[in-house]
Amino acid sequence: MTEVASPSPDGHRAPKTPAISFEFFPPKTEEMERNLWDTINRLAPLAPNFVSVTYGAGGSTRERTHSTIARILTETSLTPAAHLTCVDAPRADVDDVVARYHEVGVRHIVALRGDPAGGIGSAYTPHAQGYRSSADLVASIKQAHSDIEVTVSAYPERHPESASFDADIDMLKAKVDAGAGRAITQFFFDNDLYFRYLDRVRARGIEIPIVPGILPVQNFKQAANFAKRAGASMPDWLAQKFEGLDDDAETRKLVAAAVAAGQVQKLAKHGVDTFHFYTMNRADLVFAISHLLGIRPKSAQKAA
Ligand code: FAD
Repeated sequence: MTEVASPSPDGHRAPKTPAISFEFFPPKTEEMERNLWDTINRLAPLAPNFVSVTYGAGGSTRERTHSTIARILTETSLTPAAHLTCVDAPRADVDDVVARYHEVGVRHIVALRGDPAGGIGSAYTPHAQGYRSSADLVASIKQAHSDIEVTVSAYPERHPESASFDADIDMLKAKVDAGAGRAITQFFFDNDLYFRYLDRVRARGIEIPIVPGILPVQNFKQAANFAKRAGASMPDWLAQKFEGLDDDAETRKLVAAAVAAGQVQKLAKHGVDTFHFYTMNRADLVFAISHLLGIRPKSAQKAA
């Protein structure tokens, strides 16, 4: 997307319309599936760079992730990216999943280590016949299928298991050296965390795009819970904005849109031109925030 928006009323030329991508999780029930497809159909005309579908660590969503990706490929013009973890799985199983994706036409994998069964923070032990790390997984995907684009994770507040920022960025460097072409960050609410992280990453000679992962806060308690598990901080100012709104979904939604729109618009003002949205399979907030970024619907459905 390269359109340049017209000047705003204060005379400032708005930045180029950013590129976006969306993340979904595979549905568990028929109702969740219908809801996901309503969401996909609402967001598809925004012509995202790609849409990704998460994978349950250890393979718990293996078939559901695959069928969601396959349906996106056959029923839309969207480019799917399949998440894949290597924790708790022998290499052969992981390689099979990659080969199956390649066979149906998937050319983008988000390669991750994943959390051990005990959850984030419990000790990670590679499977006896498995990949030792996410960097090994990236190398193996690129070796077997050089035409697959590989995206990896990045942690502006460092991963909770990392001994230090340096150790964390060493891992990102290893993933890039193994062939990763893009990183998507864990969500964050304080933009300074992202910019400081970007400085560290660039100082280490890592040049790939580090795409900010944006989580519109649909539900504050749930987001706080995610943040706790992921080692991301929830600023006090954010908690204050949602104070007293537990039983007021309508106002919560307006506040959430204002918060996330403020975050992305500030990032865009500082030159960020690509955003990845954690949609939680819901379209409304993400659609509104994309609109505020200057993105307008285009037809993304395949002609019948
Ligand atoms: P890595 O990048 O391999 O490691 C992260 C950091 O942890 C490293 O920087 C390193 O310093 C440290 N570290 C790693 N291994 C060790 C070790 N053995 N000892 C000490 N330190 C270590 N999870 C899912 O289950 N499914 C998904 O689909 C999914 N999608 C994600 C998408 C994004 C964009 C992000 C940011 C995360 C996602 N996750 C997903 C979560 C992810 O699996 C967890 O955060 C997991 O704990 C780390 O996996 P990783 O590939 O990010 O780790």
